[in-house]
Amino acid sequence: MKALGQFEVWFAAGSHDLYGDATLSRVDKHSREVAERLEAAEAVSVRIVHKPVMTNPESIRRLCLDANAADDCVGLIAWMHTFSPAKMWIAGLGALQKPLLHLHTQFNRDLPWGEIDMDFMNLNQSAHGDREFGFLETRMGLRRKTVVGHWSDPSVLGRIDTWARAACGWREAQTLSVARFGDNMRNVAVTEGDKVEAQLRLGVAVHGYGVGKLVDAVREVPDSAVDRLVDEYEQEYTLVPALQRDGERRESLRDAARIEAGLRDFLETGGFKAFTDTFEDLAGLPQLPGIAVQRLMADGYGFGAEGDWKTAALVRIAKVMSAGLEGGTSFMEDYTYHLAADGPKVLGAHMLEVCPSIAAEKPSCEIHPLSIGGKQDPVRLVFTAAPGPAVAVGLLDLGDRFRLVANEVELVPPDEELPRLPVACTVWEPKPDLATAAEAWLLAGGPHHTSLCLALGTEAFADLAEIAGLELLVIDGSTRIGDFKKELRWNQAYFHLARGL
Ligand code: MN
Repeated sequence: MKALGQFEVWFAAGSHDLYGDATLSRVDKHSREVAERLEAAEAVSVRIVHKPVMTNPESIRRLCLDANAADDCVGLIAWMHTFSPAKMWIAGLGALQKPLLHLHTQFNRDLPWGEIDMDFMNLNQSAHGDREFGFLETRMGLRRKTVVGHWSDPSVLGRIDTWARAACGWREAQTLSVARFGDNMRNVAVTEGDKVEAQLRLGVAVHGYGVGKLVDAVREVPDSAVDRLVDEYEQEYTLVPALQRDGERRESLRDAARIEAGLRDFLETGGFKAFTDTFEDLAGLPQLPGIAVQRLMADGYGFGAEGDWKTAALVRIAKVMSAGLEGGTSFMEDYTYHLAADGPKVLGAHMLEVCPSIAAEKPSCEIHPLSIGGKQDPVRLVFTAAPGPAVAVGLLDLGDRFRLVANEVELVPPDEELPRLPVACTVWEPKPDLATAAEAWLLAGGPHHTSLCLALGTEAFADLAEIAGLELLVIDGSTRIGDFKKELRWNQAYFHLARGL
């Protein structure tokens, strides 16, 4: 099965009754062939479902209403194979609530220079029909992705897949429940936000629980479940001697396993796919969840520390979007800098909670003191992230809107060993350079917590922002501060106007 094969994208070509049955049946055959090619392509991670060629307003409206109602349908691809007078799309597109991709392709890749006649011209008319369709989309103010090129071109398939992944992420957001144990870390501003607005704009529902509920779930975990988890830890990680059988900290490992089992059970029972906690509010938990959070993230859960429900949701959405791809996604924090002139870098880490899906090597399972929180020493997985390109994405609440900020970064090996660092970490060089990237990030009000994604590029998050109607600021190799400041000012005006009264 495809990586996101539980979801489908509907594929519909537009035409017009005036062409007559013979031409329309060829249009339909062609569009079926294109849809089947997309469906068969490994590069496309969702199912592609061909729909009959659209020739009148009622069939288009019906298609869009059916797409809205189909739970597994995450979006619609439209392609005007021939001319398709666009007024007949108004009612349908006006009703469409699913993401839209406008595929501007042509059945024939090459012009048959020697044989071309008027029949060919009339049949292969997307250069004309898609312009009519694009006009209407713009006239209606529809958010969409436009992809141009022959349908056999790998880059076209790639761009379609990126959008389909974003559409799956959007679908996930619509049903995503975040469990929030405790509240915010006290006095922190950026992790706060309007949870009602988040549900209205993004679909994400955040539910608060006293930590006591989690403590109850942890207490109910049977010893047999703890035994099973400890066995798993022994197989998957390198345990430091203190945590090994008969080691002097073995009980702490069992406590950590009990927390994982209880937390997992709580999330599964409640249908939560993301969660937050805070070291300031642990009540009867013996230690801050470390390895538990790390392993749950590796299994696809979103997480945000210190009550950060926005980042928890974002990590989960990115994990859905990147299903089946190489590279992982983790909760991340810009922790500290290397500001040397010969290659400034960011050291990214957290107190404990970095996802092993981004690890370069087999993680080491360790126990160290946590200099904050006043609880037992927590067990955690320690590793360094794999090098390569990644994107760090932050979500903030500006009061009148949510904003996404994305910085393209290059994960690099640390300059030297980090023998005394007791947590998982990664080192990166931001694009275009640390000074510009950090200045832009600060001007944008970007948070210190991010979703660090090694599996997807900026385009996926741009597609998600387009689908969601979210502001997106990209910091990449071409970012210049003067332009970035203008973009901030223009966006401020645009989103103020776009919001209306
Ligand atoms: Mn933090």
